[in-house]
Amino acid sequence: MMLMPYWLRMYVLSKQIRLITKVIVHHSLTADGKVVNYKAILKYHTSWRYKGRILTETKGRKLLAEGKKVTKPWRDIGYHFLIEEIAGSYYVFVGRPLHWEGGHTKGQNETSIGICFVGNYDACKPPKEMLKLGAKRLVVPMITMFGLTTDDIYGHRDFARKSCPGEKFDLDTFKKIVKENK
Ligand SMILES: [Zn+2]
Repeated sequence: MMLMPYWLRMYVLSKQIRLITKVIVHHSLTADGKVVNYKAILKYHTSWRYKGRILTETKGRKLLAEGKKVTKPWRDIGYHFLIEEIAGSYYVFVGRPLHWEGGHTKGQNETSIGICFVGNYDACKPPKEMLKLGAKRLVVPMITMFGLTTDDIYGHRDFARKSCPGEKFDLDTFKKIVKENK
């Protein structure tokens, strides 16, 4: 099989997959501040929801009929990747397939990759080891593959009136770690 020229491959890639121009970082803080994990976030995103709570389909449809702002179940978890601590070690989870647009940042899902650092970083700083794993295993390969730089790394708060990925999550520190691990 003849190999396509590089520029043509990139063109096909951008048409078949998505044109990815940024990486958006999140934390998993929930309204009730409970400890969450990949499984819980997946369940939440794929359930009927109202004001941060999971509903049955019957209840969801009833509230929807009453004109309430109910969220219908998504087809998958909203993030493309998650980084989580389990028993003192950090692991990367693959979430929504990369070629599907995510459900994490209003107005930016079409052109971004959404990465969630599981935890509440309004309350404490994200552990250095967690940031390093996220940089090395996820953000560095992603920006390399999609021809991006550390300037293309954003926090959810850059696009919404939220603190996400957390008041104590310093994006400049994270970008520095990304640069060190390139
Ligand atoms: Zn967020």
